[in-house]
Amino acid sequence: MSYHVNENGYYGEFGGAYIPEMLYPNVEELRQQYLAVMQEDSFQKEFKQLLKEYVGRPTPLYYAKRFSEKYNTNIYLKREDLCHTGAHKVNNTIGQILMAKHLGKNRIIAETGAGQHGVATATVCALMGIECVVYMGSVDIERQAPNVARMKMLGATVIPATSGSKTLKDATNEAIRDWINNPTDTHYIIGSVVGPHPYPDMVARFQSVISEEIKTQLLEKEGKENPDYVVACVGGGSNAAGAYYHYLDNPDVGIIAVEAAGKGIKSGESAATSVLGKPGIIHGSKTLLMQTTDGQITEPYSISAGLDYPGVGPMHAHLYTSGRGEFISITDTEAMEAGLELSKLEGIIPAIETSHALAIFKNRQFKKDDVIVINLSGRGDKDLNTYIDYFNL
Ligand SMILES: *Cc1c(COP(=O)(O)O)cnc(C)c1O
Repeated sequence: MSYHVNENGYYGEFGGAYIPEMLYPNVEELRQQYLAVMQEDSFQKEFKQLLKEYVGRPTPLYYAKRFSEKYNTNIYLKREDLCHTGAHKVNNTIGQILMAKHLGKNRIIAETGAGQHGVATATVCALMGIECVVYMGSVDIERQAPNVARMKMLGATVIPATSGSKTLKDATNEAIRDWINNPTDTHYIIGSVVGPHPYPDMVARFQSVISEEIKTQLLEKEGKENPDYVVACVGGGSNAAGAYYHYLDNPDVGIIAVEAAGKGIKSGESAATSVLGKPGIIHGSKTLLMQTTDGQITEPYSISAGLDYPGVGPMHAHLYTSGRGEFISITDTEAMEAGLELSKLEGIIPAIETSHALAIFKNRQFKKDDVIVINLSGRGDKDLNTYIDYFNL
């Protein structure tokens, strides 16, 4: 049994490509080409070189000594926070901009909620000198002013989505509409392991550099490639997919996925998609999503903007229902405390998304000789105001 995508684009019962007919040519072109393009020598050479010299890879695998002592186990941090732009997202946007170039596209569109994916996309478009249009809900444009400014500095055009709740899902609708109208020259860069096949698999492959590096680095430090557990926070699921990728089919490695419980699973203000979700279709893929009894998507909530997505990627939906992954939900309060704790114990201020993954040790026991790798998905600079308000700093 494999936890990777099958040839029809499914992870168990999840995945597929549920798209309007008018989008079919775009998605089908990508589906037919993506594996062949990724295997080309020229693609691999440029991808690896940019990851090394532009992104700053390999990122360190750091043994967190004081954090490990505190919880009486062995904790390594995979330092994606040290990537250019401050998080793992750029691994994927570098891969997709190269994909776009190889497919002969000269215009990029993207959607963004908190703005992090918009910034990572605008960054690689500037790098390549390619036109960049980012759709963003008008409510999010107001909430995330610094990221809007970054995108503009990087030369992107930010277009407000003013329909519906004026947030991420509305921006996604606008981006899809744009793509339908520009099928030949435009590539749509999706920011996580979501969307119609082949996006979840393509994004997971671009992010899989994370677990590829973990294997080599752990071998050096521990004399074995496999940790006992690999832990990551899950919004759409891309940093987690990258950290799990080379361990998915290895039952010796435990997979722990951490979702945002917001104000509590039962509070009605949460983003714990796997626990609360039911099978449904969102952004062209069958997965678990939070919905009302008549199938309308529920607005998610989390203190961390990067985790409040109402769905989860199909790989993760399958990891959840099959039992391969252990899913833990962490509240705002638990995450904030864990973020402060890591700052004080290790001198590393994590993104609040990542703080969710760091918070599991309060309630989940590990053995003294367990080796645990946590994917430190991003740095906390972008969240400083939230930390300041929360702790009255
Ligand atoms: C965007 C983001 C996430 C959530 O996205 P995934 O696709 O689930 O990885 C997590 N951490 C950070 C730092 C982010 O910027």
